[in-house]
This record gives sequence, structure tokens and C-alpha cells, in this order.
Amino acid sequence: APRKLAAGNWKMNGTQAALAEIDQLLAALPAPGCDVLICPPATLIHSMAARAKTAIAVGGQDCHAKPSGAHTGDIAAAQLKDAGASHVILGHSERRTDHHETDAQVQAKAQAAHAAGLIAVICIGETEAQRDAGQTLDLIASQLAGSVPEGATAQNTVIAYEPVWAIGTGRTPTNDQIAEVHALMRDRLAARFGDGADMALLYGGSVKPGNAAEIFAIPHVNGALVGGASLKAADFGPIVAAL
Ligand code: 13P
Repeated sequence: APRKLAAGNWKMNGTQAALAEIDQLLAALPAPGCDVLICPPATLIHSMAARAKTAIAVGGQDCHAKPSGAHTGDIAAAQLKDAGASHVILGHSERRTDHHETDAQVQAKAQAAHAAGLIAVICIGETEAQRDAGQTLDLIASQLAGSVPEGATAQNTVIAYEPVWAIGTGRTPTNDQIAEVHALMRDRLAARFGDGADMALLYGGSVKPGNAAEIFAIPHVNGALVGGASLKAADFGPIVAAL
């Protein structure tokens, strides 16, 4: 069975003062039956990793596809790893929107992450217009095929289904809608990767303490990628406990 993962994406939030939340989370965590990951801004990776020790994994929110070079403002996968990261979120819809990232670029970044020894948390998801147009399953299949690189395994890759319209909106798909997408992802990964297809499949988009248990009960949901509710230990702790 896939490993369960409760992942937090802090996005562009937090300075050193926010690291107090990590101390509180460490104190509040039950002996978790899952892996716990926080992806803070890059500026906090090193100090968070030092505080979290092995109880909480730390990840980046993006990396460049190249190992080094003249790319002002970008971060290489090996640099994230050097700072203490074990994971990196790739292809988040906010990067696809703000920085026009394509499936091919996300795939190249995932390859770079793997080469540096990082676990790639690859994000895919439909917009509301795409869902309304009945394109969700086709879109998910093509994003999955285009964004996940050859060589992806259960050990080096996690997939997060994040419907764009559910991010930060307080709206979530129905359980059936989540189940349908996750079953499709599981099928496609099994068809392409066979035995290596046991990757954790996360749901993301308005996951809160109040809906986490219900979402975690959906078949092929192996955890969550949590935005706003990962910023406070008082919210993220109960989500981890629900998994
Ligand atoms: P929210 O949990 O704030 O909706 O964000 C989800 C997300 O984008 C996680 O990557």
C-alpha cells in the first residue's frame, strides 16, 4: 500500500517567527501513522529542517530543471537538498499560472529533483471552466502523462490532485468527484509504471480539520496537500491526526 503523507504548503507565507508553529506541531503530533511534510518558503528550509529533525520532513516549493548556472532567482534541486529538504512541490497551479509552467517543464524539474535525490510532489488539477466543460478526466490524464517523468517510483514521486477552483476557496469536490479522479490516476500510473505505481496520491484544495477525515476515507486518497490550514499547528495537527 502507498505510504500516507500529510503535506503542508506554506506558499509565500512566513518568516523566522513562524517556526514557532513547528515547535507546536512537534509537541502536538500524535505518534503519526503517516509521513508529515512542510514546504515552507525557501528562506526557511534550513532553519525549519534543523528544528524538525526527523519528525517532520521539509520540502521546497519549486526547483529549476538545470543543476546550476545563470538563472537568477531560481533554486536548483541539489541546493534544496543541501539546505535540508527531502521533497519538492512541482507544477503547483500557482506556478503554472504565475510562471506559465507547462507539463514538459514540470516533468524536466521532476527529473532534476530525482537526480538530486529529492521526492517530487507533482501537482495536477483542472480549472472550474475545464470541469464545467466535462474535460476533467481527459485533462488529468494528459497532465499526469506529461508531468510525471520516466523513472518515477513510489519512492521518489508523490502525485497531488488539486482542483484549481478548490484552492483557497473553501469549496471542495464531492467525494465521488475526488474518487473518480484518484481512481483514474491510480489506473494510469499502474498502466505506465506497473509495479512502481504504488505512489502516494494526495488530494489538495480547502482541506481543513473539519473535512479531512471524510476525504481520507475516499479510495486511493493517501493523504493531503494542505495550504492555508498548514500554517497553524492548531489546524494542521488535527489533519495529521485524521490521517
Ligand atoms: P488551500 O488548502 O489553502 O486551499 O491550498 C491548497 C493548496 O494549494 C496546497 O498546495
